[in-house]
Amino acid sequence: MCIRVQYAPLDSLVPWDDSRGVITVPEDLTGPHVLRAVRAVLTKLAIPQREFGAVCWCGEPVRLLSHVAQQQKSGGQVRMINHGA
Ligand SMILES: [Zn+2]
Repeated sequence: MCIRVQYAPLDSLVPWDDSRGVITVPEDLTGPHVLRAVRAVLTKLAIPQREFGAVCWCGEPVRLLSHVAQQQKSGGQVRMINHGA
């Protein structure tokens, strides 16, 4: 399973969850700081990183969700799509 990135408050943060393959970064990090934090964890996991971006152990780029998108997701708004209604 590919490595994912999530945000959490600093006091409850577990940087790397081995069972879920999730890297957690402090929720107040933004932009390049997120990337730097993610790369630091990936490097600790002995996953070779390219000069830019963050790379999963399978070679795919790790998706860094924007903080805004994450907040919208947890905001409880669910879009219903009606199929053939
Ligand atoms: Zn992967």
